[in-house]
Amino acid sequence: MRRMGWMAVMMGLLCAGAAPGAGGPANPGKPIRVMILDGESGGPYHNWRLTTQVLKKELEDTGLFEVTVVTAPPSDGDFSQFKPEFDRYQAIVMNYDGPDWPQDLRTEFEQYVSGGGGLVIVHAADNAFPNWPAYNEMIGVGGWRNRDEHAGPHWYWQDGKMVADTSPGRAGEHGLRLPFELTTRDPDHPIMRGLPPEWLHVNDELYANLRGPGKNMTVLATAHSDPNNRGTGRDEPILMALRYGKGRIFHTAMGHDVFALSGVGFMTTYQRGTEWAATGRVTQKVPATFPTANTVSYRVDLAEMDPDYLHGASQIVREGKGTGFR
Ligand code: ZN
Repeated sequence: MRRMGWMAVMMGLLCAGAAPGAGGPANPGKPIRVMILDGESGGPYHNWRLTTQVLKKELEDTGLFEVTVVTAPPSDGDFSQFKPEFDRYQAIVMNYDGPDWPQDLRTEFEQYVSGGGGLVIVHAADNAFPNWPAYNEMIGVGGWRNRDEHAGPHWYWQDGKMVADTSPGRAGEHGLRLPFELTTRDPDHPIMRGLPPEWLHVNDELYANLRGPGKNMTVLATAHSDPNNRGTGRDEPILMALRYGKGRIFHTAMGHDVFALSGVGFMTTYQRGTEWAATGRVTQKVPATFPTANTVSYRVDLAEMDPDYLHGASQIVREGKGTGFR
């Protein structure tokens, strides 16, 4: 990013302050029932116990949702008593990255989504289940856990449409955690309506080189993966809307940690994406604090839910220098 860009970013950090909640009035009707499913991650760099609390608060702040957290057993644990009752919810938010599930649980999940259940995939939930074909169809694209060309092509945006690169290679990479710019690709989609054509997301991992079947997938926004930050040089899909049977899926590749989740751009698209996945429409207004093309915006009260933030925000950037994060 150019120097001027950085100055704008810093101004944004100083000025953003604690933004109000996402704007829409409390729903006078019945709340939308949402399950946040967690319980496993690929490593301690994804602190799901902490991020679940932020994901829950962001939904509750809208006044639209009734949120229940369901925690799965560890992947080598006993699943015989794990009965999540998917059908009681209008959407399931996956803050979960595990290697596999028992077949009967997979089948229940597939029936829930194909029957019209909503699904929201946050960040490393697109790392989960590399060998489960239906799940990979739901997420459209994913990375890591030994995914390669057999998972599907690398999908990226070029000349106004998605392009598939079928050449062999591993799936999933990102550079250091820096702010990056999102470009809206489908401004008429209910999730994106009213958002600016370009806006800056706070420091986060820019997922690149994701691979998958890419079926029934609409790319809502992309981000340029900068070769100067170990990037692909391509415009990578970051926000996606998918269909699986009658089910709607919203997939956001953003959201590595609490600070990333505190970004008003992440928050707004997540809140709207969850409503769309659950109901097929979006009633929430875009908050006045939504970021612009050269100014980031984040909620300090959410960032403070990470103890590392309270011990000094530089920790957030420093951790990004490791190579094993995903
Ligand atoms: Zn991550």
